[in-house]
Amino acid sequence: MTLIDGKAVSAAVKERIRKEIEEKKLKIGLAVVIVGNDQASRVYVNNKKKACEFCGISSYEYALPEETTEFQLLKLIDDLNNDSSVNGILVQLPLPKHIDEKKIIGYISPEKDVDAFNAVNVGKIMIGDYAFLPCTPAGVMELIHSTGTEISGKECVVIGRSNIVGKPMAMLLLHENATVTICHSKTENLREVCGRADILVSAVGRAGFVTADMVKEGAVVIDVGMNRNEEGKLCGDVDFDNVKDKCSYITPVPGGVGPMTIAMLMENTLRAKKLQCL
Ligand code: NAP
Repeated sequence: MTLIDGKAVSAAVKERIRKEIEEKKLKIGLAVVIVGNDQASRVYVNNKKKACEFCGISSYEYALPEETTEFQLLKLIDDLNNDSSVNGILVQLPLPKHIDEKKIIGYISPEKDVDAFNAVNVGKIMIGDYAFLPCTPAGVMELIHSTGTEISGKECVVIGRSNIVGKPMAMLLLHENATVTICHSKTENLREVCGRADILVSAVGRAGFVTADMVKEGAVVIDVGMNRNEEGKLCGDVDFDNVKDKCSYITPVPGGVGPMTIAMLMENTLRAKKLQCL
């Protein structure tokens, strides 16, 4: 078994971006909007700001109080859409319950939608004609590529069908000619289906969900899950200790998919700038 080092792969991606921005003397701005006091969101936003600093991207933070109205947030998005110094707009999810997330995401200009959650960008991903890839699935693809594993023709199983991970993940694998199965909470014979996978991607959100009997000998196992175990420690969906000896490659949590998501956000922000300069 070989561990896939997400920190190293993401560091290489960020370094490539940093160099390109420096060499081309690009001025790039990313607006990061956070509403309310969610602690996890605060940590993610701080990490995104750090990555921006490293890459030479200016990050503009808009930290709004919990009681911000939908109208006020729409107004801010409108201003950012029209601000030429802002190349990318990221609204940290989840938003407070009184704000309609779909409406807010739909209001971000597709050319600045660096999370690729806007319906226009989601549609483009479906037809394989995309500018932005959703950050987490794109990060997973980079990790799989880093192993040199052939994807074309392989059986790939994605557990999870969310709009931000499972569905786009399946689509990216399909674009690379994999035979893809998407599993979810209503899937029958999950163990059997997963056991066929040459590449197994888990995006469920339950610690210890993927057990050794669900994994094919020699499979590549990618763990997108971010959970807390009984001791409160960060862990993925995969029962790592028991699965690791069965697979050819596996991502750890932490240090696997997580760092890649942020690196791909930097990539999308650079791409947004280039597209806006065309
Ligand atoms: P989500 O919206 O809650 O989706 C979870 C998916 O798992 C659903 O499609 C659900 O099926 C499926 N599921 C739940 N129980 C199942 C079961 N018993 N058998 C088979 N499928 C089952 O979560 P998400 O936003 O996609 O995120 C998934 C995980 O990835 C979370 O731990 C999240 O924190 C993590 N994540 C990590 C990153 C990163 O950067 N590393 C980024 C995003 C998310 P149904 O649709 O049938 O309910």
